[in-house]
Amino acid sequence: MVRRRMRSQDVRHIFVAVTGQTPQIVTETLYALMVEWRIPISEVFVITTRVGAERIRRDLLDPAQGQLFAFCREYGFDPGSIRFDETHILTITRTSRRHRRAGGAVSASQEELDDIRTVEDNRCLAEQLLGIIQQLTDDPRTVVHGSIAGGRKTMSAYMLLAFTLYGREQDRLYHVLVPEPFEHNPQFFFPPRREQWIGVGVGQVVSTRQARIDLAEIPFVRLRSWVLKEKKLRRTIEEQIRVVQRELNREAEKWETLVIDYSARQARFGDRLLPVHGVKLALLAYFAERRAAHPQHASGSAKLQECPACFQEYSEFDYTHYCELCRVFASPASGATTAKQGERFDQDLFLSYRAKLNRALRQGGFPDELQIVNITPMRRGARYGLRLDPRRIHLVKGSMTPGE
Ligand SMILES: [Zn+2]
Repeated sequence: MVRRRMRSQDVRHIFVAVTGQTPQIVTETLYALMVEWRIPISEVFVITTRVGAERIRRDLLDPAQGQLFAFCREYGFDPGSIRFDETHILTITRTSRRHRRAGGAVSASQEELDDIRTVEDNRCLAEQLLGIIQQLTDDPRTVVHGSIAGGRKTMSAYMLLAFTLYGREQDRLYHVLVPEPFEHNPQFFFPPRREQWIGVGVGQVVSTRQARIDLAEIPFVRLRSWVLKEKKLRRTIEEQIRVVQRELNREAEKWETLVIDYSARQARFGDRLLPVHGVKLALLAYFAERRAAHPQHASGSAKLQECPACFQEYSEFDYTHYCELCRVFASPASGATTAKQGERFDQDLFLSYRAKLNRALRQGGFPDELQIVNITPMRRGARYGLRLDPRRIHLVKGSMTPGE
């Protein structure tokens, strides 16, 4: 993908924070971003509750004593250059249905949440917060700076999730770190240029010289391109996450390995155990061994179809070796039975075990490459084997066998 380098004057830096009872984190983070890091933030959004919105209005946006204006005055920013007003306070709402008497019609109204306390509140928070971040990251000319410092823990968690799902290469997420006497202090909103003494507790004061503000950048995985594959369909958050997870699992399957553990008498693919035991696991191990022994025939090799080492006719089946494998994979409880099953082996039984093995893998949602397939289209001269890339087959014999 060719990405055109953005010229700095084309870029708009947006700051978005979750807040609860401590609107200070907004000015503290703005101080770190704008004064210390010299990032020209031109718009601020706050995602909050009804109570948090009141605090923002009173403490930050009040024209007479709002700390946003105090901050701008202190550091010489034009308040008009930072878009942050009533419309930038995004309050989480719940749809409440009220029955109207006349005609019994139902009207829905939006009710602002005081706090995030119930499962339903959380669901509203998730949908709305993720929707907001999705919108803010829609414009390629913006850089979105997010803060997880304020609000309830769930708000921080969803902020991280939102950035994981929608964040782009240029977007950033932070937590603001403020020394203890200043943290949540109602008298402290940002370090002033000139030293001030502010009250901490009863009869104690502390100098703002000690108010060192740090921004910790929170790294996150960017799944945006996986999410946007499905953008046409409006889905709930849970559905979106499920879709992304399924896509990622499918991708992971491309390099996950089949591990056959002889001493544990089990096999797994990636981190999932195969639902296969005893004689059927012995059959899988038999073909996995042949395939693993022929690494020159990786998947996709043109000669694979004709390879007698990877794929065998039933007449070539090494019955003695299969019996050994049956003994290896027999559980202690049913050892004698499994061994006997191996002994009265014939072509019918072979086909029956193969069918059961393949069915169990299919039903378990494992990829087709793990099945024992007939590689020739005709029934006569059928040749059986495993398609799985030999480099992805890992045979662990003996309990102390190291990785390779
Ligand atoms: Zn081969």
